[in-house]
Amino acid sequence: MRIGVYPGTFDPLTLGHADIIRRGAKLVDRLIIGVTTNPSKNPMFTPEERMAMVRREVATLGVDNVEVVGFHALLMKFAEQQGASVILRGLRAVADFEYEYQMAGMNQQLNSRIETVFLMADVSLQPIASKLVKEIALFGGDITRFVSPAVRVDVMERIASMGQG
Ligand code: ADP
Repeated sequence: MRIGVYPGTFDPLTLGHADIIRRGAKLVDRLIIGVTTNPSKNPMFTPEERMAMVRREVATLGVDNVEVVGFHALLMKFAEQQGASVILRGLRAVADFEYEYQMAGMNQQLNSRIETVFLMADVSLQPIASKLVKEIALFGGDITRFVSPAVRVDVMERIASMGQG
């Protein structure tokens, strides 16, 4: 059985992520979405909130071989624990390339049995990044084209509650 891990912060999950999940699920028998709990990124949503969000969104994608697991270990350790032979990443622009190339190279040195596989971002979804979605929403812009309706509500509610806090 071929198991793949798609790791990310998913803060929040965008239509770009959803597209990679849908396409990636076809390439492996089981796809595990690894939601990092890495606090250094100062996320808008807690790990638990992000996991619940990803689970809810996955349920709308028409895939039945995808599960969501949180992790705070080294990615390669997590992938080994899950019995994965593939790490899946999405690739948007040249800016992604350098970082991803370096990370894939280092991960290969850590465990050469696990291959990193890249899916090119869908052309129409290329510009979408969680960071920009948050910035646009914070400044009152419309994020409808970048995230699902439910994620949009999550983001807008979080921003509203931040304003009150
Ligand atoms: P990380 O903190 O690991 O970069 P992200 O949640 O930002 O986590 O992204 C997870 C993965 O999804 C990365 O491989 C990233 O390149 C990919 N990704 C992000 N946005 C898109 C998009 N619009 N289209 C395709 N892949 C994307």
